[in-house]
Amino acid sequence: MRRYRATKIVATLGPSSSTADIIEELFMSGVDVFRLNFSHGTHDTHQKNYDSIRLLEEKYRRPVSIMQDLQGPKLRIGKFEKGAVTLCEGQQFTLDLKEELLGNHERVSVPHPEVFEAVREGTILLINDGKIRLRVSETYKDSCEVFVLTGGKISDHKGLNVPGVALPISSLTPKDHKDLAFGLKMGVDFVALSFVQKPDDIKEARELIGTRAGIIAKIEKPLAVQHIKEIVRLSDAVMIARGDLGVEMLPEDVPSVQKQVVRECRAVGRPVIVATQMLETMVESPTPTRAEASDVACAVYEGSDAVMLSAETAAGAHPVEAVTIMNRIIERVEGDSYYRMILDTLHPIPEATASDAITAAARKISDTLSLKAIVTLTTSGGTALRAARERPNAPIVGITPDRLTAHLLALTWGTHAIQLPEELAEAPLPTIMNLVYRAIVAEDFAATGDEILVTVGAQFKGTDKHHVFKAGSTRGLFILKVKDPREEQCEDHPLSSEAHQIA
Ligand code: PGA
Ligand code: MN
Repeated sequence: MRRYRATKIVATLGPSSSTADIIEELFMSGVDVFRLNFSHGTHDTHQKNYDSIRLLEEKYRRPVSIMQDLQGPKLRIGKFEKGAVTLCEGQQFTLDLKEELLGNHERVSVPHPEVFEAVREGTILLINDGKIRLRVSETYKDSCEVFVLTGGKISDHKGLNVPGVALPISSLTPKDHKDLAFGLKMGVDFVALSFVQKPDDIKEARELIGTRAGIIAKIEKPLAVQHIKEIVRLSDAVMIARGDLGVEMLPEDVPSVQKQVVRECRAVGRPVIVATQMLETMVESPTPTRAEASDVACAVYEGSDAVMLSAETAAGAHPVEAVTIMNRIIERVEGDSYYRMILDTLHPIPEATASDAITAAARKISDTLSLKAIVTLTTSGGTALRAARERPNAPIVGITPDRLTAHLLALTWGTHAIQLPEELAEAPLPTIMNLVYRAIVAEDFAATGDEILVTVGAQFKGTDKHHVFKAGSTRGLFILKVKDPREEQCEDHPLSSEAHQIA
């Protein structure tokens, strides 16, 4: 079940895609990571979908990853007497904490005291995805007066944005805490944090999550962009959540922020997802607009690790078609020689570490010799991530004894993860390499006799018995010919002998 593309696909599950059959179809059409959106749905449906995905990965014997997306502190206004009111440009309006009072044409509740702490005279507030614009004219302890800059209809529980203002709130609400405990108990691979404002939000989540799941920082506040370097460093992956980001920023600012965040992530080798409205018209229509096809293509050209579908697969009329078309766009772009040129132009400089020097050499060697695959033996996934940062021509095969690592790598550009069976985690290298040969031949990465490149992480447990490295060495790099996996591997495996080690 290998994919013939490097860029990964994330798809959101929802009412249009919550049966085992559709989930399997989505997977067959190209989904690498499924996203469970905890802004919607019940724990029951998430659990059901979770179970379907885990059965799928047993059936196809490959890691399929699951991302839990927490709702985060999305601010909402309260309810109205008549369900909605229309605000007129130029009128005064009041926002207050009185949740027990239903709203009317003069006031509505905003049940978030932090908003009243943070706003000042002149602060801009947005309602309903930015369609309604308000300017704060007077502030009080528990309320504020606003002047309506752009009017329109507002209804019960519409979203409220306070762009550019640091709200004194955690990115984890009480609901998120409950959802997180549920998600970790299920065994999700990634937890995505919504409305991250500052590096401390990631640290707070890490305290709770530890190493039980990877943390994805969703970049959807302009404030997060200001702290992007530190947020990227602390996270396991990053999502450019253009939906909410586009509400708090001018539309013309979003593309360059997208490029900036992709660049920051690629520089440090952190997987990055470009998300939201990628094929939006496919919610209703069986084909995307040309502009949407171009948007997906642009994200691929700039070297993103993954592109994401939201409403298209969660609530749309054509979930499977959306994945199929996304898959086709990616394959088409990756087949274009211009893609290679752009990747190489944007290629980050290796850091001055032994492992980066070796990984950069691995890419050079595999590109020059047109090797069939770069196999990385990795425990934490670090070696595979460094290899992916190089964006080599050859596919990267990440072999790992660690279940979570195998799942985290599903989001990583150009990387196909294979989890070693538990009983082999500490096996001698010839046994492991036999399994590697078997897997890469079976998965069509290379044929018997082809040359492959192998890099080994220092932590890799499989090296215990047949010491590959002396203590203190960080990584190794080997060129090997793929052996017939049906043959017994000799005890004196080349990987155990320094004679075959290039670096
Ligand atoms: P959401 O996040 O779908 O959870 O809102 C993505 C975005 O805002 O783009
Ligand atoms: Mn969002």
